[in-house]
Amino acid sequence: MKKKPAAAKAVYTLADLRDWHDADPPVRLGVFGDPVEHSLSPKMQNAALEHCKIDLQYARFHISPNELRGAIDLIRKLEFIGVNLTIPHKIAALGMVDIADENAKRIGAINVVKVEGGKLHGFNTDGRGFARAIREEFSVDLRDLRVMILGAGGAARAIALQCAKENPERLVIANRSFEKAQKLADELRDFFAGPKVLGPVARLQAVSLEETAIRFQIGNVDLVVNATPVGLNRGDPSPIPARLLAPHLMIYDTIYSAGRTPLVSAAIEAGARATNGLSMLLHQGALAFEIWFQREAPIEVMRKAIG
Ligand code: NAP
Repeated sequence: MKKKPAAAKAVYTLADLRDWHDADPPVRLGVFGDPVEHSLSPKMQNAALEHCKIDLQYARFHISPNELRGAIDLIRKLEFIGVNLTIPHKIAALGMVDIADENAKRIGAINVVKVEGGKLHGFNTDGRGFARAIREEFSVDLRDLRVMILGAGGAARAIALQCAKENPERLVIANRSFEKAQKLADELRDFFAGPKVLGPVARLQAVSLEETAIRFQIGNVDLVVNATPVGLNRGDPSPIPARLLAPHLMIYDTIYSAGRTPLVSAAIEAGARATNGLSMLLHQGALAFEIWFQREAPIEVMRKAIG
């Protein structure tokens, strides 16, 4: 007699993919990360699958950097629908797919893979997810804002490119390693050649993530986005000193693991509007669902699942 498939595991590994035993419903989607145990994506995507009556499951996969190539090859063989990629795989995975869309290539990282016709397609939904989150949280579009991004890594690159495409009033990139901020600004310079005139401050600027430079900029920005991991761990400080925060600011911390990150707490204390990155997680996930299934994602069901 045929054995009944087992329940899905809390976390799968590369060894599981190599010796695949299906679950019920079958696992055909997942997130690859290291660490991955705390990812909220399974909750959100499984709620969407169930709501849409798609008889599949989305699971966590603990995949280390040296296992990524093998794991990606296996999802093709096992005919997965696709996967999400999280820390630290987004950049490396770009080089492992057959086709990447223009947006992902320009960012230099992917967070979504879709398997189609035996080929792996790479996408990046972080930037568009961020833009939707800002509209939802602050009822304003990026094009009407002066934006400062803290960080110049994978998330910051996706957010900065999205901002550039939406033609904001101003974009400041502040990073610990100044050269990386400068390089990112240089890559985006073409987007800022237009006629918006702001007086003495430059429309596109790279600065060091240190107090004097931030103090100089903060009076000429509306939205501050934290795209560094500072605030992720217990005991972390705010990525910029609380004394620099002012009531006119909107603060978006892309970190979503804690209810109130140190930056969000400091901003609220200063009378500013502030929120963590749960809405960006939701919208990048909804966009991934739409890529995989070519249908609208049940956004409210997904929101409720992670709320
Ligand atoms: P990443 O590529 O490793 O980049 C990290 C960035 O943070 C770099 O610019 C780095 O500066 C800076 N940084 C790291 N440690 C720092 C420190 N101690 N002080 C100051 N700057 C520091 O990481 P990532 O993929 O962009 O992810 C960044 C964060 O974005 C993650 O923590 C995650 O929470 C968040 N994120 C959220 C979502 C969402 O859906 N809400 C999606 C994606 C990412 P250097 O260049 O100087 O090293």
